[in-house]
Amino acid sequence: MTLTGELLIGQRAVTGTQAAIEAVNPATDEKLEPAYAGGSKADVEQACALAWEAFDSYRETSLEARAIFLETIADEIEAIGDDLIERAMAETGLPQARLTGERGRTCGQLRLFAKVVRAGEWLDVRIDPAQPERQPMPRVDLRQRHIALGPVAVFGASNFPLAFSVAGGDTASALAAGCPVIVKAHSAHPGTSELVGRAVQKAVKSCNLPEGVFSLLFGSGREIGQALVLDPRIKAAGFTGSRSGGTALWKLAQGRPEPIPFYAEMSSINPVFLLPSALGTRGEEIAWGFIASLNMGAGQFCTSPGLVIAEKGPALDSFIQTARDALQESASQTMLTSGIFEAYQQGISKLTQHGQVQEIARGKTGDTPNQCQAGLFMTKAADFLADETLQEEVFGSSSLIIECANASEVAQVAEHLEGQLTATLQMEDADVDVARQLLPILERKAGRIMVNGWPTGVEVGHAMVHGGPFPATSDSRTTSVGTAAVYRFLRPVCYQDLPAALLPEALKDNNPLGLSRLYDGQREAVR
Ligand code: NAP
Repeated sequence: MTLTGELLIGQRAVTGTQAAIEAVNPATDEKLEPAYAGGSKADVEQACALAWEAFDSYRETSLEARAIFLETIADEIEAIGDDLIERAMAETGLPQARLTGERGRTCGQLRLFAKVVRAGEWLDVRIDPAQPERQPMPRVDLRQRHIALGPVAVFGASNFPLAFSVAGGDTASALAAGCPVIVKAHSAHPGTSELVGRAVQKAVKSCNLPEGVFSLLFGSGREIGQALVLDPRIKAAGFTGSRSGGTALWKLAQGRPEPIPFYAEMSSINPVFLLPSALGTRGEEIAWGFIASLNMGAGQFCTSPGLVIAEKGPALDSFIQTARDALQESASQTMLTSGIFEAYQQGISKLTQHGQVQEIARGKTGDTPNQCQAGLFMTKAADFLADETLQEEVFGSSSLIIECANASEVAQVAEHLEGQLTATLQMEDADVDVARQLLPILERKAGRIMVNGWPTGVEVGHAMVHGGPFPATSDSRTTSVGTAAVYRFLRPVCYQDLPAALLPEALKDNNPLGLSRLYDGQREAVR
């Protein structure tokens, strides 16, 4: 498929008028054709006007029609074939197998949301029928369902060019909820974004949906992103990226005359606690698992294990020895962009120059551009507790081991942590009592707590939580991965004493959609 470098506004392809973005192959630093001239505020205005026009009709599409739309997007993405993988490889430096897997995840996610839409649970229908005879006061008829919030702005992430980008989790969940979507493409992979954007555009057309259901804008220099968040027709936004970018946009969203939900997934260092019995009995195996997780995708995962916490002693010493040997053998890997590489280098230099931090090992160097040379460091709990900067995310393969004097210091470190996407316990049965002490602390800190696994690799399912307290995200009440993500873009509406002729299908007495509903406090059987 030939790339044109145009913005996609509804069904039109439009040449931008602002400074152009050029994709760069991070493995060679070579520019990739075509240039993407940036959009203007007028383009944002156009996309928002179309999205608003589409909203009322799109949010009332039948469950079946909306599910078919999501499935059609997945089919269209697959139909792009190898061109998509090749372009994504050139723009991100990520290997073919990873991107092929990510495409599978992206399409699987769209099809999973199609199933969610069909089942209709997300409508969360509740009916409290009228009780005219109730004493001392009659009861009114109350019926509740969820409706879509309105047009949603999505900021594609740099580190998942498919699964967290143009048709990624934020877009899939917003479309499933019934919200039109306007994507601000990440400037690091505009060609991949155009390919996927055109697939969504085609699906909108073949499903006979209003054109404003989807638009894709390009542009760097913040103007497009800020204009989108400030547009009064945008009613929510999803973001994955840096803490500074996410916080700036979240503040902008809260400062609007009508503040809106801004779901930013930002920064997490994903602590791993090595409990004494596990460390003593299988320290070596844990060390290999840890280094494998740390090196995955050059550590450019929001769930990369950036912190390891354990009590000092011979078991920790031998864990460190094995981790050092494994890390020294790690090949260098190309990072996503030169900007991310530079930020990584700065983070690593801060650690190497820190008086209380000891370098344990570095991975192999590379001789091509933007190479991540993995790093493993160590400090004492007292020094970690005394310096907030040691909690800062170093995006890339980098991890800090915290040596604690005893179990109480381990708990102190846990208590000191900022909000996290994940917390991991490496433990044996004999560690249960220590784990039980830590669990209430970790519940307050993290969105997902796991035992004897590694945080990288986030299952897309119904029970997944990819979220957590700030700075992991801007809103700890939700998840950006998994089917529960749909609830971010919905709100409840209650209908009191509406005549049958005005009631939405989902709320009618005869339950024509066959939904599972809460009727007078009792769960109705699904038909
Ligand atoms: P980013 O700089 O936050 O950019 C993400 C997106 O938001 C881009 O489209 C960017 O637009 C836009 N943006 C950022 N700040 C903005 C602002 N103030 N106003 C308007 N738009 C704004 O993230 P990135 O480029 O993906 O990576 C940079 C750093 O983010 C990494 O080094 C890493 O530290 C962190 N990161 C973390 C995660 C995670 O999951 N924890 C994931 C990815 C990145 P432009 O195109 O104009 O830049």
